[in-house]
Parts: sequence; C-alpha cells; structure tokens
Amino acid sequence: MRANATGRVLHDPKGGSFRFDAGAICLDFAHTGGEGLYAVFETLHEPADLGEWLAQPPMTAVMTVPVTARELTAAKTLRQAIWDAAHAQAARRPLPTGTVATINRAAAAAPLIPELAADATTAGWAPPVRTTQALSTLAREMIELLSGPLAGRIRECASDNCPLVFVDTSRPGARRWCAMERCGNRHKLRALRARQATDP
Ligand SMILES: [Zn+2]
Repeated sequence: MRANATGRVLHDPKGGSFRFDAGAICLDFAHTGGEGLYAVFETLHEPADLGEWLAQPPMTAVMTVPVTARELTAAKTLRQAIWDAAHAQAARRPLPTGTVATINRAAAAAPLIPELAADATTAGWAPPVRTTQALSTLAREMIELLSGPLAGRIRECASDNCPLVFVDTSRPGARRWCAMERCGNRHKLRALRARQATDP
C-alpha cells in the first residue's frame, strides 16, 4: 500500500463531485457513507458496492469470495468506528466507548497477505482474498495511525460546516482543507469579498 496513492472522488448528493484525499486508506473508507445525517452520502448500498470499493486502488483487493450482506454490515460498523475515532482524535477528545473495541475486533482477523508476482516487480494479495481480511487491514492501518507519529496530524477540515476528516501527511504539515477545490477556494473567495467590502 502506497500512502501517496490514497484519495477518492466524492459525490455530493446535491450534485457535483471533487477529489478528496484523506491521507490514509482507512480514512478514505470512513468517507464512503454513514449513518443518520450522513446516510444521504451512502455509497455502499449492496455487498457488491463494498467489493468494488476494495478492488479499486490503492488497496486493489479483488475479493475471490463475494462480499456477503453480513460482511457489509460489519464493514459499516468498522467505518463508523473509524469515523468516530478520527473525529475524537481531531478534537483531542477521548475516543467514544466501543470505538476501540470495534477497531480491535476487526483487526484481530487475519489481514490481507501480500504476494510477490513471479517476475518480482509487482505485488498483489494472496488468494483467497476475503472481506474480513480487507477490513482487518483497514482496522490495522487505523491502529497504526492513532498510535503512531501522525496521530497529531489527524484534522477536521477547517471550514465551519465541513465534517471531512484527514491525516495531514504533507512535509510542512500545514494542510487545512479537505480539498482546495472545495473548501479552500470557498474560504479564499469569502476572504476576498470581506476585504473588498471593507476597502473604500
Ligand atoms: Zn472541507
């Protein structure tokens, strides 16, 4: 898994789309939908939707055993825990009850097993490739993130009404926005208008 290959195109249910790089695959996964208020952003409606998401880069885990409805439910439980944990960490709050246990439970399963191709220049995942393994790999990445040097770099977008969360993997560590083309530019435009309004 290459850290610099993260990021997905997110679609706004009201229209439009933009590329958002959460900086980690597990955090990208946390933005595939949600519960309650975030249910309108759901992209994993069917088990096959999850299979398709996992098959895309950078994870590129093509399931050799189709995703079941039960595994989709487990994936959404893990997703919610990752989302909750990331927001708590971003706000420097203790993680909500149950979040740690959910992540640990998913991580306890065997993860995806890397397999070097015969030509020794590319790698894939050793079959059988199962959903529980992919979820374990995501959970393990989240554990590494929360307990590693980048934990302090987990942030929520600096825009007032944007809940997107990311880990800032840039060298300067000054990332503020989910995406420049979305919240960054809106902020710049507002600042410009405010300046024009005060200028004589
Ligand atoms: Zn934003």
